Amino acid sequence: MDFKLTDEQVMLKETARKFAETEIKPLIPAMEEKKRTPKELIRKMKELCFYAIQYPEQYQGVGSTYLEYVIMMEEVSRVYCSIGGHISVNNLCAGTINDFGTDEQKKKHLPDLIMGDAIGSFAFTEPSTGSDPGAIRTTAVRQGDYWVINGEKIFITNSTIPGYIVLFCKDVEIGGKITNIIVPKNSTGYSTPKLVEKMGMNGMEVADVVLEDVKVPFENTTGGEKGRGRGYEILTTEISVGKLGISAQCVGMAQAALEESIKYAKERVQRGKPINSFQTIQWHLGEMSADVQAARLMVYWTAFNRSQKKNILFDSARTRLFASQACHRTVSSAMQIHGAFGYTKEFIVERIFRDMKLAEIYEGVNEIQRVIAASEFLR
Ligand SMILES: Cc1cc2nc3c(=O)[nH]c(=O)nc-3n(C[C@H](O)[C@H](O)[C@H](O)COP(=O)(O)OP(=O)(O)OC[C@H]3O[C@@H](n4cnc5c(N)ncnc54)[C@H](O)[C@@H]3O)c2cc1C
Repeated sequence: MDFKLTDEQVMLKETARKFAETEIKPLIPAMEEKKRTPKELIRKMKELCFYAIQYPEQYQGVGSTYLEYVIMMEEVSRVYCSIGGHISVNNLCAGTINDFGTDEQKKKHLPDLIMGDAIGSFAFTEPSTGSDPGAIRTTAVRQGDYWVINGEKIFITNSTIPGYIVLFCKDVEIGGKITNIIVPKNSTGYSTPKLVEKMGMNGMEVADVVLEDVKVPFENTTGGEKGRGRGYEILTTEISVGKLGISAQCVGMAQAALEESIKYAKERVQRGKPINSFQTIQWHLGEMSADVQAARLMVYWTAFNRSQKKNILFDSARTRLFASQACHRTVSSAMQIHGAFGYTKEFIVERIFRDMKLAEIYEGVNEIQRVIAASEFLR
C-alpha cells in the first residue's frame, strides 16, 4: 500500500491550488453578489482540462483517474466550493453519457462536455420528490422518431448554462418506468424561469426547469432502445460518483476552515496571550485535523475503487456521510474559534458555514446515505 502521491498528482494539486487562489478567489465577491458562474472562469477551467480529468482520451479526456479528479476537486473547493459543485454536476451529465451512452452519443456529446464547450446538468428532482425515484411525474411520450417531454424539475444545477441536461422521465409507452434522455438546453419548450435563492453555494447556478412539449430525437435516449427503463440504475450509479465529488468538496472546505482557524488562533490575543495557547482551542484544532485527515483518506479510498471500476455504491454513501459530517463539525469549530468575528462577513468561515450545509442534503440526504451504507450488511 503506497500513500504517496505521484509527481504528476503533486503537480496537479499545486496547479489546481494556484489556479483557485489566483483565478477563482478574486471573482468570489462578484459570484456571491450576482449568483452566477462566470463564463470567463468556465473558459479558463476548460483550458486547464478541469472538466476532462477522468475521461478517456478518445473523447478528448485527459485519461487520468478519479484520484486525480478528487485532488483537483479538493483544491478548487478549498477556495470556493460553488465551483467544485459546478464541475461535479457537469460530471454527473458527462459521466451518465460515458457510462451508459451509446458509442454515437459518446462521440456526439462527450467531447463538448469534457472540453467545457457545453455544460452538463442532471435532472431528477421534482416538486413532489427528491428522495423517491418512484414519485417522479415528468413524462416522455414517444411520437415516431421523437420524444415529447412535459413536466417540471426543481433545484437543477447548471440548468441556466448552455449545454445538455440528462433528464429522468416516466416513459409512458413502457408503463412509466424511468428512462433517461439527453436534452439540449436550447430545445424549444425548455425554460428556467428563475434562479433559486439559496443560503450559500452562490457561485453555483441552480434553477427550476420547465419542460413544455420539448421535442428531442428518439436517438437521444441514453443507451438507445436498450437504455429504456434503466433510469433507476443510471441514477444510483452516477449519484455514487457524484457523492464522491461532494465528499472531495467537503475535504476542501474543511481544510480551508482548519487553515483559517490556525491562522486566527495564532493572531487573536486574549488575557495577554494568543488564543492557541488555550487548551480548549487546541482541542478544537486537534479534532478538526483528525476529521480532515480521515475524510480525505476515505475520499482517496473511494476514488481509487472507482478508478478500479468497482461498484462504489456503499463506499460512496459512507464517504459522503462521514465527509459531510466531518466538514460540518470542522466548520462549526472554526466559527467557534473565530468567536463573534466568525459570524461576520469579514471572515471567510461565515461563507463556508453557509456553503457546507448543502453537502448533507443534495444528491441524497444523509438519512438515505445511512440506509444505503447499512444495506450492505442487511441484504
Ligand atoms: C443547491 C441545490 C442544488 C441541487 N442540485 C440538483 C441537481 O442538479 N439535480 C437534481 O436532480 N436535484 C438537485 N437538488 C435537489 C436535491 O438533490 C434534493 O433536494 C435532495 O435529494 C433532497 O430531496 P428533497 O428536498 O425532496 O427532500 P425530501 O425527500 O423531502 O426529504 C426531506 C427529509 O425527509 C427525510 N427523508 C426523506 N426520505 C427519507 C428516507 N427514504 N429515509 C429516511 N429519511 C427520509 C430526511 O430527513 C430528509 O432530510 C439540489 C438541491 C439543492 C438545494
